[in-house]
Amino acid sequence: MSLNQLSIKQAHQGLIKKEFSAVELTEAVLSQIRKTDNKVHAYLFLTEELALSQAKRIDKKIANKEKIDWLAGLPLAIKDIILVEGVKCTAGSRILENYLSPYDATVIKKLKKAGAVIIGKTNLDEFAMGSSTENSAFGPTKNPYDLERVPGGSSGGSAAALAAEECIYALGSDTGGSVRQPASFCGVVGLKPTYGRVSRYGLIAFASSLDQIGLMAKTAEDAQMVFKAIGGQDEMDSTSLNPRKVKPLASNIGDLKIGLPKEYFIKGIDPAVEKTVREAISQYEKMGAKITEVSLPHAEYALAVYYIIMPAEASSNLARYDGIKYGLSKRVNHLLEGYLETRQLGFGDEVRRRIMLGTFTLSAGYYEAYYLKAQKVRTLIREDFAKAFEKVDVLMTPTAPTTAFKIGEKIDNPLSMYLSDIYTVSVNLAGLPAVSIPCGKKNKLPVGLQIIGRHFEEEKILKVAQMYENLFA
Ligand code: GLN
Repeated sequence: MSLNQLSIKQAHQGLIKKEFSAVELTEAVLSQIRKTDNKVHAYLFLTEELALSQAKRIDKKIANKEKIDWLAGLPLAIKDIILVEGVKCTAGSRILENYLSPYDATVIKKLKKAGAVIIGKTNLDEFAMGSSTENSAFGPTKNPYDLERVPGGSSGGSAAALAAEECIYALGSDTGGSVRQPASFCGVVGLKPTYGRVSRYGLIAFASSLDQIGLMAKTAEDAQMVFKAIGGQDEMDSTSLNPRKVKPLASNIGDLKIGLPKEYFIKGIDPAVEKTVREAISQYEKMGAKITEVSLPHAEYALAVYYIIMPAEASSNLARYDGIKYGLSKRVNHLLEGYLETRQLGFGDEVRRRIMLGTFTLSAGYYEAYYLKAQKVRTLIREDFAKAFEKVDVLMTPTAPTTAFKIGEKIDNPLSMYLSDIYTVSVNLAGLPAVSIPCGKKNKLPVGLQIIGRHFEEEKILKVAQMYENLFA
């Protein structure tokens, strides 16, 4: 096994036992990137110098017999929508092509303190709008399992980098499924934490009531370690929360109650994906868990609600790119012309589509009919989950209705692209934590199982994920 293939746990143990150095580990990852990334295109750019200097610092600490953190010396990939001080941050957009981050996001601050090694920034759909990375202004990422297919999106670069063994773990962001869906397409673990549990300070805003920084790792155990390192209340993000005390998971799996939302196992799902997911769930049953059907009656409206609230927030958040404050700037004689030209040149089609949709639903005369109505249905969706969680501990669903689709297959049909998020968006609308874990393959392509928990129950869903992983360990 080469060093870049190691999990966090294995790499950490190797470092403290001095089987290899952090610099060697970093070099192994960089050499894998050089070998593979011209085909996969997971990274937009590397931060090689930064990585090597961080790795050297950790090697010094080890040599001095200082205690190091779990993540110290381990190379990580970062979705290019999270700020790293002094490093470019493009959000996959022409409008921020040359934008330099003025400060570290809170998660980056924490990871730097833990000794992380930042390898580079990964590709994404422009401003995280998409499900395939095809909306990146800098060309699509390819799925390492099949280079003709998409890695999912919008954190497709992070998922592909991890699947191609070009990093040890990765950060992404999830507004409607952007960590979980690419994790499922690329066969890795992807966690979207409870809304507010990880600071959004330094995450370029897309739809602020839904956005959450998430992570990808090779195992659920690794995911838990990264989650612990990046979570916590932050005074720089007023929506960040202190975790509520939650009941720990019963150690006896016989006490675990799993709910299957009946609305998630109906038409539209690829039968082979459904079969794979049901087989994984039956493994839990064999271990002794109790499986019950539950109902989320408003699930059918989730996608419609998401595609009203998300563009409304996006249109308002993206108003700041006016050619004056940030990034690309087309200076012409007239101020309004300057705005128009900058935005026309800087934004791609999908971003413009969403700005228009959002502006429309927020405009006088339509606000009540669309935006306000969608907010009310959002509350009903939240309540559906709360009711279901009175009866069960976790919910299990497919992460996506299909496996990775072909590049180009859905790009001209936004509605069919939007359908890839049918199982993930309601989790963001309700602010819940959820994890996608690999649960088998169909035609050599990974299938993901989504495990959804109550607010603040990340540890629980990750433990439940680990039970499945342990079966194959
Ligand atoms: N694919 C969804 C969208 O296009 C979700 C994006 C995300 O979570 N950032 O909006």
